[in-house]
Amino acid sequence: QLEKIKERDSVYNCYVTVMEEEALKRAAEVQKQIDAGELKDSPLAGVPVAIKDNICTKGVLTTCSSKILNNFKPPYDATVIEKLEAAGAVIIGKVNMDEFAMGSTTETSYFGPTKNPWNTERVPGGSSGGAAAAVAAEEAWYALGSDTGGSIRQPSSFCGVTGLKPTYGSVSRYGLIAYASSLDQIGPIARNVSDCAAVFEAIAGYDAKDSTSVKMDDYHFTEALVDDVKGLRIGIPKGYLGEGLDPEVKEAVLAAAKTLEAKGAIVEMFDMDMVDYAIPAYYVIASAEASSNLSRFDGVKYGYRTPDFEDLQDVYKKTRDEGFGMEVKRRMMIGAFVLSSGYYDAYYIKALQVKALIKKGFDDAFAKYDIILGPTAPTTALKMGENLSDPLKMYLGDIYTVSVNLAGLPGISLPCGIDSSGLPIGVQMIGQAFSEKTLIRAAYSLE
Ligand code: GLN
Repeated sequence: QLEKIKERDSVYNCYVTVMEEEALKRAAEVQKQIDAGELKDSPLAGVPVAIKDNICTKGVLTTCSSKILNNFKPPYDATVIEKLEAAGAVIIGKVNMDEFAMGSTTETSYFGPTKNPWNTERVPGGSSGGAAAAVAAEEAWYALGSDTGGSIRQPSSFCGVTGLKPTYGSVSRYGLIAYASSLDQIGPIARNVSDCAAVFEAIAGYDAKDSTSVKMDDYHFTEALVDDVKGLRIGIPKGYLGEGLDPEVKEAVLAAAKTLEAKGAIVEMFDMDMVDYAIPAYYVIASAEASSNLSRFDGVKYGYRTPDFEDLQDVYKKTRDEGFGMEVKRRMMIGAFVLSSGYYDAYYIKALQVKALIKKGFDDAFAKYDIILGPTAPTTALKMGENLSDPLKMYLGDIYTVSVNLAGLPGISLPCGIDSSGLPIGVQMIGQAFSEKTLIRAAYSLE
């Protein structure tokens, strides 16, 4: 794996930090454990993994792909890192992302964009673009990403790999540098559903260090890897196939639905309300939370500090001005605006009401269906630079993913075809909260 990184990463730019020395040392240790008969039940033992650069790794750079954290080495490991290490995983590096996970292309990184291994003129998606591209380019066996509004599923779709965004609360967020805390969730990006299930099994679990952590009844996700969808009720929201959807993506997604139908699933179209309101509600809520979460980066506690300053106010101002990129500043300003007195009710409260209605829409749908199926993204991988100057266009690309986070549900994206430009297409399946076993079974049956 390290050889492949050396061979390929100067082109793809998946990695912010390659941990060559640490990884080799760790691999030798894990080998000793395996020789001693330990880790027998862990499918992850000795397997190399890449970690998105917003997940804290003790003593190893964790930058969020931002200048403001470009020298930040956390004094502790995230819970998911401890869990992976207990399972014998070998971390080989930290991977690139949109700055603070804000974006859908990995072009807003302070360390330059990651390129899509399928076609280097295309973006890998984002914000976990480095993670998805590393898996696609075989520069990592699997990766951990984070998903606030699609950042695991959309890059998985663009890079032809499989990504699982778990139910909110099922994986600890302790040590994940927060973007929008009520939406953020860590999950696996891997080559197939089986690997995603194995990784999810290793990282899920209740954690007292995360106040939104939830204990599930059953953590045996790999048991759900059975090819059987007989009688499974699958709904396709009509609004997910409407305007803005690339016809080739639509065709591939409908073909995937047919495959499941042929295997005995019951597939139906239905009307789901509020589809059009998900994006504005998401961007109001996510930006509001971001403006609050990112206030901690002030040049005093950690990371970058401006070299020239007069007084404390000046440290704050200059550090933040120099340390944050355009998109992050835009979100913080939107967030501060929608939370300000006089606008709070009109924007923030309204967005929370829309969120509640979206959740209700899903609840109603799950009274009739076990799984909701649709595209992961309206298009395949975009050209580099295409959306950078037009944030609104970029935000609209999140239409099928953000409502899943607003409702706290699990979603998976897996490859379902290749378009006429030779780019992979992704299909998304959404499940009820904590029904990952059903989701994994359905996805496995489609592979
Ligand atoms: N594209 C979305 C955003 O920019 C989602 C990002 C994410 O899931 N981290 O907010």
